Amino acid sequence: MSSQGKSISFIGAIVGVASIASNLAVAQSQTPPPAAIADNDSIYIDGKTFSITPGRAKGDTSTQIQALGARDLGPGAIVFRSGEKLYIVAAPVLVPSPQNQAGPNISGENIRPNRVTVEYGVPKSPELQELYGMLREHRVLEDMQGILSPFRLPEELTIKTTECGMVNSWYSRENSKPTVTLCYELLRHILQSLPKNTGPGGITPRDAAVGQFFWLTTHEVGHAMFDLFKVPIFGHAEDAADNFAGYIMLQFGKERARRLIAGGAWAWRMYVADYRTKPIVQTQLAGFASNHGQPEERFYNLMCLAYGADPVTFADLTQDGYLPPNRSPTCRFEYDTLAYAFHREISPHIDQQMARQVLDTAWFSNVPATFTAPSPPR
Ligand SMILES: [Zn+2]
Repeated sequence: MSSQGKSISFIGAIVGVASIASNLAVAQSQTPPPAAIADNDSIYIDGKTFSITPGRAKGDTSTQIQALGARDLGPGAIVFRSGEKLYIVAAPVLVPSPQNQAGPNISGENIRPNRVTVEYGVPKSPELQELYGMLREHRVLEDMQGILSPFRLPEELTIKTTECGMVNSWYSRENSKPTVTLCYELLRHILQSLPKNTGPGGITPRDAAVGQFFWLTTHEVGHAMFDLFKVPIFGHAEDAADNFAGYIMLQFGKERARRLIAGGAWAWRMYVADYRTKPIVQTQLAGFASNHGQPEERFYNLMCLAYGADPVTFADLTQDGYLPPNRSPTCRFEYDTLAYAFHREISPHIDQQMARQVLDTAWFSNVPATFTAPSPPR
């Protein structure tokens, strides 16, 4: 569930420039196609009147470069006006030329739904073969692909399972392509820690498997959406990705939301002893320095969102000791704040008719009620 810190900050740096460039590119497309500058031609932009005047040099400009102290512009630049000032910014590859609209820009023609691709990487380790076969048979990635189909993305998003050599998952750009990576080791860990039977609140092994898979995938997809839609984040990106996942789960409503939320929180639940009978925990101080919240905090955050979204369906959270009374009164406000952010930053990128169909579909129907846990790691 962690993201790679390096890749995230790298993406952040790119995103800043990309958003300027793409905004300008959009503006540019609303004006007639700009003419090219022929050899020895020039343009003059008046910084006070903002008028643009074409010109032509007398004689060969190559002899005047040094005399004028002119600098090579490099691959490209954008001049833009903000208020009463002009600015110039280097823009190497981010502005589409009229011939080439491809690239990481948010441009009209490239934005469309059905833009998630999925890949089951073939694991090398013999002990992961069974899990690989099981995931393919249950078509879990195809179902995620269907659930995410209403998002109108400016670029293809790949979700892949792969052998990583560690228990992890993350979002990053691989060769500039937005990619969510789910490690087989993490998925195996989830399957090995499922409840054996139906647990408290009617949570089945299937709920715990589907809920956790759904949770960790949409958490990473959250990071991807923030990158693709250039969503500004105040606060921790990890909390924002958790909230994105929680919000999506809750949109399925009532019983299905309940199964997803309770299933998704299954592993964290282990960390959260009933606060009334075991109110004290011991934890490593360094844990508080993590960019991820502590499991206990993530658990309570998710429970609070659920209770805030639907205090009737999730009423038992406050009664069964999962949501202490020092938190529950603010949960409606927390959920509304999240819903506002989602509606403002994400909803405009969703095909609403497709989304309604997604919410009316029974997903993960190929996943069986019980599992034989795959072989433990050697
Ligand atoms: Zn994350």
